[in-house]
Amino acid sequence: MAPNRRRRNTPQRATILAALEEMTTHPTATELYAVVRERLPHISLGTVYRNLEVLREDGRIRRMEYGSADARFDACLEPHDHIRCTECGAVRDMPPAGRPFAPAPAHAAGFEVTGYRLEYYGVCPACNGEEPRGTR
Ligand SMILES: [Zn+2]
Ligand SMILES: [Zn+2]
Repeated sequence: MAPNRRRRNTPQRATILAALEEMTTHPTATELYAVVRERLPHISLGTVYRNLEVLREDGRIRRMEYGSADARFDACLEPHDHIRCTECGAVRDMPPAGRPFAPAPAHAAGFEVTGYRLEYYGVCPACNGEEPRGTR
């Protein structure tokens, strides 16, 4: 669906989006559900999944796939890179890489290139024992 035909927010969808915008952890649907449920005690995990899918289809959030691990969600649509903890899977934003960073030419390897992802990985402060574990 084109962004100009985006669907109207239901109160549930608005709450889910607001919670995601407040979080810097790029939560999975399950992690986001735990936060949303504090505000909407009767919401179900399935409702959170469905609304995340609507928000993604409408181009209002990003869905980040990590192979067999749960997808994570990001309400920040500005281009930015991520760092992922190899111990616990936590994902945080990284400052922009030195530019110009030149992606390979479009149509490389015969593909129609529709995007690319630069991902850092390392060990987060919590897994390093430098910082207590937080949820947001
Ligand atoms: Zn970690
Ligand atoms: Zn991000």
